[in-house]
Amino acid sequence: MEPRIHDLQIESPVPELLDSSVCTNQVFSATYQCSNDHIEELNIENNLAKKPYNCPYYGSKCNVTGDVHWLLLHLRNDHSVEMHDGRCFSHRYVHHNPKHLHHATKMLTLLDCFGRQFCLYFEAFHLRKTPMYIAFMQFMGDEEEAMSFSYTLEVSGNGRKLTWQGVPRSIRDSHKMVRDSQDGLLITRKLALFFSTDNTANNELKLKISGRVWREQPISN
Ligand SMILES: [Zn+2]
Ligand SMILES: [Zn+2]
Repeated sequence: MEPRIHDLQIESPVPELLDSSVCTNQVFSATYQCSNDHIEELNIENNLAKKPYNCPYYGSKCNVTGDVHWLLLHLRNDHSVEMHDGRCFSHRYVHHNPKHLHHATKMLTLLDCFGRQFCLYFEAFHLRKTPMYIAFMQFMGDEEEAMSFSYTLEVSGNGRKLTWQGVPRSIRDSHKMVRDSQDGLLITRKLALFFSTDNTANNELKLKISGRVWREQPISN
């Protein structure tokens, strides 16, 4: 059955953090200097780079594959996924009926920075019997380049703060694989209630999650 965003939504984005306006597109190019010995190895890398990616939208129904450029168009046009510019973000997730997690409840937004794109997932699910939330980022590209980035996610509210720092996984790994490996910011629902920034409507849970992506400096000897 197709998972649906049943009752999870992003409220209007919180105003940008100041330094997100500094975001510049940095397109890195690599120069390969290969002797003949390395031509075969390089060909293998090229073939891998050309291997299409699966659509990173959650759920198993979508069978679309393609390169990153194609998938970006597809995500926007066919899944109505929002693109967010800049390396910093702050989102307020509203879960309208947090006591009922029987529907798969997920949200995907895209982040565009460093001339690259990242998938930001937020999801409510059951880990064994414990209701949980998880947030994590995946890189729209191959694993090798993914490892040159780092990111943080921070949930805060009511004087409390929890921070995750991680390395975005390539979208070669499925969203479900990353979620099930728990490679992200995990919050139990009990803890989430302490972070919820607005408890006036007692059926809603509002989580403010901010984050940042950066590129690690290349190591030079
Ligand atoms: Zn798709
Ligand atoms: Zn932003």
